[in-house]
Amino acid sequence: MTSTNIAVLGATGSIGASTLDVVGRHPDRYRVFALTAHASAEPLLALCRAHHPSYAVLSGLAEDRALREKFRAAGAELLFGAKALERVARDPACQIVMAAIVGAAGLASTLAAARAGKRMLLANKEALVMAGPLVMRAAREAGAEILPVDSEHNAVFQCFHNKESVRKIILTASGGPFRSTPLEALSAVTPAQACAHPNWTMGRKISVDSATMMNKGLEVIEARWLFELAPERIEVVIHPQSIVHSLVEYIDGSVIAQLSNPDMRVPIAHVLGYPERIDSGARPLDLAIMRNLSFERPDEQRFPCLRLAYAALRAGGTAPAVLNAANEIAVAAFLDGRLPFTGIACIIAETLAAVPPNPAEELASVIAADAQSRSWAAARVLAQAA
Ligand code: NAD
Ligand code: MG
Repeated sequence: MTSTNIAVLGATGSIGASTLDVVGRHPDRYRVFALTAHASAEPLLALCRAHHPSYAVLSGLAEDRALREKFRAAGAELLFGAKALERVARDPACQIVMAAIVGAAGLASTLAAARAGKRMLLANKEALVMAGPLVMRAAREAGAEILPVDSEHNAVFQCFHNKESVRKIILTASGGPFRSTPLEALSAVTPAQACAHPNWTMGRKISVDSATMMNKGLEVIEARWLFELAPERIEVVIHPQSIVHSLVEYIDGSVIAQLSNPDMRVPIAHVLGYPERIDSGARPLDLAIMRNLSFERPDEQRFPCLRLAYAALRAGGTAPAVLNAANEIAVAAFLDGRLPFTGIACIIAETLAAVPPNPAEELASVIAADAQSRSWAAARVLAQAA
């Protein structure tokens, strides 16, 4: 078998690590072509020593000769700056791109991979939230295949056949660490508490998104574009055990679900091998030891971000990009101790009300909305602190 070249964008992150774990189990199938990180040179160098990519990228650093020499000694050519992400994503020698950069910073390279017609393993949900129609159109036109890594979308993808017969999809949410915290205690929760997710170990931004349930809001928008379904056909249900990863309901009343232990290597192995199945390294699911699989409706008062995301999706145009940018600013401020947890939803609501949506047919409009939303949200964070 000839091996397939893969670029892992965001290799030093949580999805990056899970991807390299699965890839490392199948040296006959995959060859690591490129690895990228924003600024963490030493962790990236360690990954290069283990996986021997042709290229390494430090997107947040300027040219540094000493670093370049260090990477060369490990066999990798080191590139600097954000443009290098696009360069490796579209390199003709690379067949698969894992898009696992966090946030809006992943949009340009995700779009570059789509335009270059790659097989894309998409973890960077923010790219679809900001510019879903643009990314999907670019992929269609270039023949790129977008395979969802997000566990819920991967579950839907596995259960979704015969679109005309689908009534709705149901995304599951764990409810995060504050599902049953008294409402009056939420304003005082700390970043460490917010990042202590009961079922998953993830990057800090998505951990906070899970605690506010903005993560599920972003996922509703992601699902809207991946599966081309109207918002009213995308439902969210809380399932604290994170065993049922999502469900598809058909017009005859059948509901099909995908289950596994909560381990991102399962959806990652699925998209890597697709349409074949390959070993992920995940522990097999033992249903008999599970005492309880429960489901409940999300509480709107506790999780206002979910409602805000549906509202932005319905408003259309650049509204989801505005939502995403305000969320990134608010989450960063919360993680820095500059904003209380409950301030996150307030900043997003105020920004959505202040920045009117425009049509989002051009990338330039999306980028302008993102910038406008960031500066508005940052000013509101400052005003709150004063
Ligand atoms: P993380 O914070 O652990 O890692 C982020 C990666 O992106 C790192 O390699 C970092 O160097 C890189 N990065 C950060 N800022 C950057 C910038 N400005 N420019 C270029 N690169 C940058 O994040 P994660 O938890 O691995 O999440 C990555 C993406 O996958 C997110 O979009 C997240 O929503 C999605 N996702 C994650 C999980 C999970 O279990 N962690 C599950 C589903 C979806
Ligand atoms: Mg998810």
